Amino acid sequence: MTVRARGRADEGCCPSCGCQSARVHDRYQRQLQDVPLATRRVQIVLEVRRFVCGNTECGQRTFA
Ligand SMILES: [Zn+2]
Repeated sequence: MTVRARGRADEGCCPSCGCQSARVHDRYQRQLQDVPLATRRVQIVLEVRRFVCGNTECGQRTFA
């Protein structure tokens, strides 16, 4: 069984400077480790958005 999920937040917070950003740079998928659920193996595919940090003083240009 495969479960596909994606984040719902419209913006993220840069882990380096704390600035909020709603400017999406790209999206990518992460496959989380298979987990057992009852007798089935479940694979979780998570779509993650990468945001652009708008703070010109910040050294981190993008973050997920
Ligand atoms: Zn930043």
